[in-house]
Amino acid sequence: MGPHKDDKYDWILVGGGLCGAALAYELIQYGDSVLLIDPNPTSPGATRYSYGGIAYWAGTSELTQTLCHEAIARHPQLSDELEFDTQFQQRSLLLTVEAGQDPAAIATRYESFMIQPEVLSRTEALEREPLLNPEAIAGALCLPHGHVSPLALVTGYRRAFERLGGITKIGQVTDILQDGRSAENRRACGVQVTEDRISERILGDRVILCAGAWTRRLLKQQNLSIPLYFTHAELIETPPAPFEMQTLVMPAVQQRFALEAEAGSPTQAQDWESDQTGQTILAPILDAGLVQFADGHCCLGQISRAQTSLTFQTNATESSQHIREAVGRVLPCSKPLTGQWISTCVAFSQDGLPLVGEVPNMENLLLFSGFSSPFVYVLPVAQRFAKAMYKKQNDALVTQLSPQRFLPKRKTD
Ligand SMILES: Cc1cc2nc3c(=O)[nH]c(=O)nc-3n(C[C@H](O)[C@H](O)[C@H](O)COP(=O)(O)OP(=O)(O)OC[C@H]3O[C@@H](n4cnc5c(N)ncnc54)[C@H](O)[C@@H]3O)c2cc1C
Repeated sequence: MGPHKDDKYDWILVGGGLCGAALAYELIQYGDSVLLIDPNPTSPGATRYSYGGIAYWAGTSELTQTLCHEAIARHPQLSDELEFDTQFQQRSLLLTVEAGQDPAAIATRYESFMIQPEVLSRTEALEREPLLNPEAIAGALCLPHGHVSPLALVTGYRRAFERLGGITKIGQVTDILQDGRSAENRRACGVQVTEDRISERILGDRVILCAGAWTRRLLKQQNLSIPLYFTHAELIETPPAPFEMQTLVMPAVQQRFALEAEAGSPTQAQDWESDQTGQTILAPILDAGLVQFADGHCCLGQISRAQTSLTFQTNATESSQHIREAVGRVLPCSKPLTGQWISTCVAFSQDGLPLVGEVPNMENLLLFSGFSSPFVYVLPVAQRFAKAMYKKQNDALVTQLSPQRFLPKRKTD
């Protein structure tokens, strides 16, 4: 559905990765006019290179556990709903425990999750995944996991959105338009979009930033300070492999989430202000894993870097070598694979929960970003958020994700 008679959309969504595409689809269900803008919607940002794992076992609170239940109930039905195969599968996630470590002791780190891993000896781990190198592991933890093709999921969402009358525009949002009357009364009323050097103003009642790691830059441009950060993620994408993995393999001691927690802590907030020049917040980490997709291609990864510049460039040869060595140790079958080294950026928030809702200090500007495990949480949150917006009723779960939670607490007498 195009804009209203007054040339205004009800909703303008900036960014067509998983977050933008899922939310656009949920909003258009209510018949509003919705515009989704991305310079490259067929190959979006971090989503394009994601593993596509659905960690529905990882809920730790009432909020996240409810969302996990809702996500795993909906994923298997989504292909029918979208009329597009998302390639959803139930898979086993095998979390390898390094030789010399105790799998049972490592399993205690998973005690807070709603589903507990099965602790496997080395022999049992090899029965589940015969391609593992027995000398590299002491055993493994095994969890039920969901898996989709990230590109198929996002394509399915976008096509269903367009079928229902939504409009996708190719372009880069360069500015957020405002019609507020003063610095204290700022109000978003649209966006400035550039494509092929042609710039245009597009008006909308509400603007939602779903631009993943690039959301931070759009907020900063408006002098809006929100604890939304990003890591640079590096991986190798291979053509279809001549072997078939039985499981998705990752390390039991994953460092990515610890890196995000530390890099996003309030003590690092000042360092993130130096986005222009670029600053390394913490040493990079490598979580050695291999994920094979339904068409046989694999992703080997991943290095995560907390670096404040979006345009930071690292040494691709060194990075590629590190990934290959680490993955090759656990899964020697990966050594002969050819592949392309990729670097992308992934958003995260200060407390591990996404930022969903109104941006403080600018009316009609909203966020839908910062999901650390979006393949599990985006489905239910997008659905609940769209319903709450349409019915103009608060959703108690979505309210807990509001960016307002980071506002300084008022002193009470
Ligand atoms: C190697 C790897 C493995 C991962 N594995 C998993 C996993 O197993 N499970 C999981 O849940 N998550 C995983 N993630 C994380 C997950 O993939 C990302 O968090 C998610 O894809 C982010 O989606 P998004 O829509 O927020 O951002 P993106 O996919 O990055 O999309 C943002 C979009 O915004 C657009 N954009 C940016 N600036 C502008 C602008 N100014 N105007 C218009 N458009 C703009 C970009 O072009 C881009 O298409 C993984 C990530 C990586 C890199």
